[in-house]
Amino acid sequence: DGLKQYFPIKGGFLGRTVNHVKAVDDISFTIHEGETVSIVGESGCGKSTTGRAILRLEEPTEGKVVFNGEDLTKLPKGEMRKHRKDLQIIFQDPYASINPRQTVSDVLNEAMEIQKVVPKKERRDRIIELLETVGLNAAQADRYPHEFSGGQRQRIGIARALSVNPKLIICDEAVSALDVSIQAQVLNLLDELQDEYNLTYLFISHDLGVVRHISDRVIVMYVGKIVEIGDKHSIFDNPKHPYTKALLSAIPVPDPDRERNHIVLRGDVPSPIDPPSGCRFHTRCPFAQEKCRVDVPELVRHDGMQEGHEAACHFVEEIERGEVKPKELQV
Ligand code: SF4
Ligand code: MG
Repeated sequence: DGLKQYFPIKGGFLGRTVNHVKAVDDISFTIHEGETVSIVGESGCGKSTTGRAILRLEEPTEGKVVFNGEDLTKLPKGEMRKHRKDLQIIFQDPYASINPRQTVSDVLNEAMEIQKVVPKKERRDRIIELLETVGLNAAQADRYPHEFSGGQRQRIGIARALSVNPKLIICDEAVSALDVSIQAQVLNLLDELQDEYNLTYLFISHDLGVVRHISDRVIVMYVGKIVEIGDKHSIFDNPKHPYTKALLSAIPVPDPDRERNHIVLRGDVPSPIDPPSGCRFHTRCPFAQEKCRVDVPELVRHDGMQEGHEAACHFVEEIERGEVKPKELQV
């Protein structure tokens, strides 16, 4: 709620803070129990920072992170540890941060030890059970990270997260490094585990194909702000924000209708140090008007949008009716 994450930039005389990277700039959203919410956007939009701020891996600059009625940002660091088992994170390569001399069994054992979730004498059985849950087997428990493929390593990362019985798992580009066929297997595994353990996922990805596969709801971020939010079908089949349309235009799918909505994304993502005034997308938006340079658009539900579907654009309805036209005809 009202989450901000600013990183100071030191410089100049005596290394004072001269500016801030406004990585996440006042965003609010809800994740319901048992659902998968994805955050998508280009790199640098603030999606990973949002995940890290929820876990307080980075202390949020402002705003609340309310988990089951409790504001996590208000908890002393020591008490946060109690919640660490409720909130887990899986990274692109879960083994990148792990000691290469630890076996799979060591890794899982350590996670359970820190959170004190399973008595010592039951741990071996639990480790084997976890490995089987993620599609590995008992014979692999005493192997080392380098003996596994990328997909298997991600299964181990999932087993490690599961070992402490979490409620919410943040998956930060969790399948991005995997081949497409392996991606599908890991996504299917995440799906099955969700049903079995009533897990909730916050899925962070730049890959719209993956997001379409896994999500119930989707959040689109651009330069630290949410520009559109809605259920999967609203976002993919009825996108309203020009930026969302541009992202979708970049996916190669045959669709006779898409010419009408096709937007080519030009130029670079602006710097979050000095984001554009008004609508942050105005420097790249083909529909931008004078108002867009001045007024910050709010995230609201416009005419023709379903319940829960909101976009932050001044001209959603005008664009829809063809009254505001793109500046250059996109071919
Ligand atoms: Fe484009 Fe203006 Fe809408 Fe921003 S508010 S997305 S610049 S039309
Ligand atoms: Mg990222």
